[in-house]
Amino acid sequence: MTKSRVAIIGAGRVGATFAYGLLLTGVANDIVFIDSNRAKAEGEVMDLEHAQAFTPATQISIGDYTNCADAGVVVITAGVARKPGDSRLDLLRKNYALLKEIIPPLVSSNRNGVLLIATNPVDVMTYAALQLSGLPARQVIGSGTVLDTARFRTLLSQHFGVDTHSVHAHIIGEHGDTEVPVWSLANIAGTKLETLCQNRGLPGHAAALEDVFVRTRDAGAALIQRKGATYYGIASSLVTIVAAILRDQNTVLPVSSLINDYYGISDVCLSLPTVLNHSGVKEVLRLQLAPDEVKKLQHSAEVLRASIGELEGRRAPVTT
Ligand code: NAD
Repeated sequence: MTKSRVAIIGAGRVGATFAYGLLLTGVANDIVFIDSNRAKAEGEVMDLEHAQAFTPATQISIGDYTNCADAGVVVITAGVARKPGDSRLDLLRKNYALLKEIIPPLVSSNRNGVLLIATNPVDVMTYAALQLSGLPARQVIGSGTVLDTARFRTLLSQHFGVDTHSVHAHIIGEHGDTEVPVWSLANIAGTKLETLCQNRGLPGHAAALEDVFVRTRDAGAALIQRKGATYYGIASSLVTIVAAILRDQNTVLPVSSLINDYYGISDVCLSLPTVLNHSGVKEVLRLQLAPDEVKKLQHSAEVLRASIGELEGRRAPVTT
């Protein structure tokens, strides 16, 4: 197996920006694009090739599902956007139909690589991918709240005036409306954020921190309203996840994966800090959450399970 081959299904804004991130960082030495719109994939490959004089050596090509055989990671970024008049359920069903097209030929070519889903609604699509692929649960992950956590840390870093890398804070649960900020464990240099606010004499810290969370949760919608899409943040998240897998790094990232027996939550995909290595999920870390955070996480799981229930043909057992 060529361990650093990455296959990208969907050469749209997210897929192409992700490929550009892979190219600049040298995380993969071989990138294969698959898109139902072949001309679009050809255009992206040509454009990326013109960057190759300035980047680490990377092969870039257009392929079909047989070319996924050697991929260490296959990333699904294909998706349809919500059209005027479409409900949330319409979108769910359209992207589920798309996965039903993509996954069978994909798994008949590669059952060894990790399958990484970015298509929204990402947690439900990750569960669907697990079900449709029949792959072991550790091999199927969603980008989950890696992006939301990055947004959260950035906004907190701006609020506290410290580097983003010095902020330790997580968003868990759904990538979406019910996501949960883990305030009880958030810290800068081991100091709880509330204590830091008090030490600095910052008034109204509870409201200010709540505002940071609301802007985190609503960032995707704010971006779509302004520029019609989001792709730099998600592409960077995907590069970081793929690096953790290809380089066998044991990096802890809040990806979405199948959760069982976690504060009473089972049989749903959602995000929790997860140790990632070459085989995918090595371990989902057990957090000591505050009681209100547990309730919110359980609510998030219930909402996601209701969405899974809306998919046709669901509930076939998944392999753990
Ligand atoms: P886009 O419209 O720019 O690209 C989608 C691509 O998928 C197109 O090139 C299209 O031709 C391709 N495609 C459609 N059906 C296909 C099929 N059956 N096989 C192969 N390719 C197919 O969309 P985008 O902005 O790149 O967004 C893609 C997905 O990523 C959406 O579902 C979006 O909601 C999601 N997204 C997720 C996150 C996240 O945090 N998880 C963030 C941003 C976007």
